[in-house]
Amino acid sequence: MMENLTQGPYQLYIGGEWQPARGDAAFPVHNPADGTEIGWAPEAGRDETRAAIDAAARAFPAWAARSAHDRAALLLQVRDLLLQHRGELARLITREMGKPIRESRAEVTTTADIMTWYAEEGKRTYGETVPAHVPEKRILVIKQPVGVAGVITPWNMPLSIIGRKIATALAAGCTVVAKPAEQTPLTGIALARLYHAAGFPPGVVNLVTGNPAEIGAELLENPTVRKISFTGSTEVGKLLMRKAADQVKRISLELGGHAPFIVFADADLDAAVAGLMATKFRNAGQTCSCANRVYVQRPIFDLFQDKLTVAMARLWVGDGLDEQTDIGPIVDQQGMQKLLVQLADARSRGAEVYGAAPFGGDPPRFFPPMLLTRVTPDMLVCREETFGPIVPLIPFDSEAEVIRTANDTRYGLVAYYYTRDLDRSIRVAEALEYGVIGVNDAMPTVAHAPFGGLKESGIGKEGGHQGLAEFLDEKYLSIGLGKA
Ligand code: ADP
Repeated sequence: MMENLTQGPYQLYIGGEWQPARGDAAFPVHNPADGTEIGWAPEAGRDETRAAIDAAARAFPAWAARSAHDRAALLLQVRDLLLQHRGELARLITREMGKPIRESRAEVTTTADIMTWYAEEGKRTYGETVPAHVPEKRILVIKQPVGVAGVITPWNMPLSIIGRKIATALAAGCTVVAKPAEQTPLTGIALARLYHAAGFPPGVVNLVTGNPAEIGAELLENPTVRKISFTGSTEVGKLLMRKAADQVKRISLELGGHAPFIVFADADLDAAVAGLMATKFRNAGQTCSCANRVYVQRPIFDLFQDKLTVAMARLWVGDGLDEQTDIGPIVDQQGMQKLLVQLADARSRGAEVYGAAPFGGDPPRFFPPMLLTRVTPDMLVCREETFGPIVPLIPFDSEAEVIRTANDTRYGLVAYYYTRDLDRSIRVAEALEYGVIGVNDAMPTVAHAPFGGLKESGIGKEGGHQGLAEFLDEKYLSIGLGKA
């Protein structure tokens, strides 16, 4: 067991060394459940990021040259360490960003699954041979790691998103400079400690915490970085994409979502309610794949509302460290403010609101599950990502109508629907403009399938062999043969 996995002092990880930011600059991290300070993370800027990129560049040739089998063995060591320290890591996740401890434990397990899968998938970066058009030529396509990859991640899945990006990059043979979100730097540093303990060569994984604009600028402007993998808001994603254009840097973006959840009259209603509960209230509604708009066909609307109300009444809201908690605190005041604004806006436009008032201080820290009816498309809750436990329930009549309204958004990440009609299930999947579709399934994300959005929800995939391809270059070799 590792002695110091989740204790301070927390430091930057550059070239295999632990170090403070210049001048010992640091920023505090708070527990969103009660506002207590749980640690300090280094406030790095451009200089530290440049040093990390240099270290990653020095480590790259040897790492890329190792066999995928070798790389897999090291990744599996990290996987084992993750599982050994599951309880401790889960507590850190919950203290840092509030999610219920059960969900934090599940996040550690998911991260371990991702590592297992990519350790193996790294062995299958198959190339191609193409039949040539003349007898004296041979045509091959080979795949190679793109080089140093920059990874920028959000707070809502503080272990699995950064863990997935790093594991995918390493399996492909890239070296990495990663930056966790400012709300959750400590979980990121704990993960770096596991890489260190597993014996990765210095510089293969580097982690910097601190000023997002400065770290981001260095990652984007430094030509040594050949790839950026980002998960976060659509606004920041667009900024990064614009900057990446200057060097035609490869970029993958997992951005915001506004998931429709559609329940047809022929659906298994209990399964639909259970599915909605799982996707909507996970992480207090703070994921980009949480259902955001719920459309229910008119004949079953009242029955669905009744069943949902009963299920929602059972949810316990409180400190994520309590085993009984289903919904923890909202991550920060900005997140809470957004919810309060969406709620006030819905009320002022005539929505009916069912649920207890937000509580836990001024401003509040906790937002209880809330059901809205009489919802109209002009309400903010129908247009902007909510990131909280608000369920707008909207009736619809026809399939064509609900497809039109479900697609009426700039986002296109995940859509869910419940039906028992086979023809409809195919038709609707093909008509919805979303990158991930849950058909009678509210939890579609797994390591071995491609997750990624359409429209303003992003470009590129994570998971599956598609996720690995994001970190690989393809080279085409045209080989002329001499006379036999
Ligand atoms: P969220 O709304 O989920 O907090 P953000 O897009 O603000 O989403 O944050 C996601 C990640 O992007 C975080 O690691 C954050 O620090 C980082 N980030 C924010 N602004 C910038 C920027 N200008 N350049 C690079 N990264 C940034």
